[in-house]
Amino acid sequence: MPLIESKLDPARACYDHTLESGLGWTHILHEGQTFRIVDLEGNQAVDTLFYNADDPSDRYSAVDTVREQGNIYLSTGTRLLSSEGNLLLTIVADTCGRHDTLGGACAAESNQVRYALEKKYMHSCRDSFLCALSCHTRDMTKRDLTANINFFMNVPVTPAGKLTFEDGISAAGRYVELQAAMDVRILISNCPQLNNPCNGYNPTPVRLLIWD
Ligand SMILES: [Zn+2]
Repeated sequence: MPLIESKLDPARACYDHTLESGLGWTHILHEGQTFRIVDLEGNQAVDTLFYNADDPSDRYSAVDTVREQGNIYLSTGTRLLSSEGNLLLTIVADTCGRHDTLGGACAAESNQVRYALEKKYMHSCRDSFLCALSCHTRDMTKRDLTANINFFMNVPVTPAGKLTFEDGISAAGRYVELQAAMDVRILISNCPQLNNPCNGYNPTPVRLLIWD
C-alpha cells in the first residue's frame, strides 16, 4: 500500500490527547471530523472499534469491510463499513501502510490459551474496552464487543492461510488518519499486552488528535 501523508497541522487540532498504554478511551467523532492516531514510540497495537453514535447495534464490521475492498489489510482508501452496510469512516492518510483486522483483541482467555495458564489474569484489551464502556456509556456492554481493528499491528496471513503474529512494521511517529462519514463512537484499548512480539513486548503511549 502507498504511504499517504496528511496536510493537517497538529497545532490546529480541536482535540489532542496522549493515551498511555493499558488504558481504554472512548469519544464521539462527528460527521466530517478527522481523527488521527499517532504511534508515538513505534509498534504499539491500538485495538479499536467504531459504532454508529446514534445506534451502537450498527457497528464496525470487519467481514463487510474486508469483503467489499477485496483485501484483508487496512490502509489509505479503506472504507470502514458497518454491520448494516453503512460507511462509518474512510482511512484518508497512513504512514504505516498496513493495519490488521483479523487478529482480534487480547482477553483473559487468549492470554491463557496463547501464552500460559498463569497469564490469564494479566491485563487485556477486553478489560480496557469494558472499563471504558462502563465509565462513559449508559447501555453498552460486552455484547457490543465484536471483531476489532488493530492499528499498527502486523498480522500477516501466510500462503497456506495461517494467521501469524509478527514483529511490528510501524515506527515512532507513524500515524493513521480517518474521516468520519457519520457521527461515530470510537472505542480504543491501547493494548497492555506484554507477551506478544507485535509490540516488541513493550506497550507504549499513542497520541489521539481530532480536527473539525
Ligand atoms: Zn491487547
